Amino acid sequence: MSGPAAPGSAGVVFVDRDGTIIVERNYLADPAQVALERGALAGLSRLAAAGYALIVLTNQSGIARGYFDLATAQRVNARVNDLLAEAGIAVAGWYICPHGDGDGCDCRKPAPGLALQAARELGIAIDGAWVIGDKMSDARLADAIGGRAIVVTTGHGAGAVDAARAAEIPVVADLSEAADVILGPVADAHARAGSRGLTLPAG
Ligand SMILES: [Mg+2]
Ligand SMILES: [Zn+2]
Repeated sequence: MSGPAAPGSAGVVFVDRDGTIIVERNYLADPAQVALERGALAGLSRLAAAGYALIVLTNQSGIARGYFDLATAQRVNARVNDLLAEAGIAVAGWYICPHGDGDGCDCRKPAPGLALQAARELGIAIDGAWVIGDKMSDARLADAIGGRAIVVTTGHGAGAVDAARAAEIPVVADLSEAADVILGPVADAHARAGSRGLTLPAG
């Protein structure tokens, strides 16, 4: 009974890619340049073990700008997925917005299109989902889907700290600390109670 919880049983965590899971390279097009950010493996593995479905949403305006194509962005995603899989971390879905800032699409974060697509395709409920990223465009996605945001100070995170604090959004050093926010004392108390066959009231 002590194995990892089933994926999605605890909820959904939408995670940004660049500057959050991997080191920000600005328009990364080469899978060989993929490097995991500090805390990424520790944080994501704890969230997965706790039963959160991990879904990666990434804005890739480099495609709209003609710097690289969709297939290239997907190869970078595949490299990240391989590194996570080597650590035993399963990602439920990878979603890319290929558009630019002025394109008016419904999928460039903070627009909710990618999250809604994931909900549809994976058959999951996303209300109350967590959203973790290094920009306010990630954090504002949480508002758009009725979720909860966490800003990490890896990547471009330093530039988001003031706005995040003003919006009372938790600011943490990296994905490992983000997992601390999500798997806090209340969640732990429920997990311990559950393992003894007790039931605590929700919330
Ligand atoms: Mg980012
Ligand atoms: Zn888009």
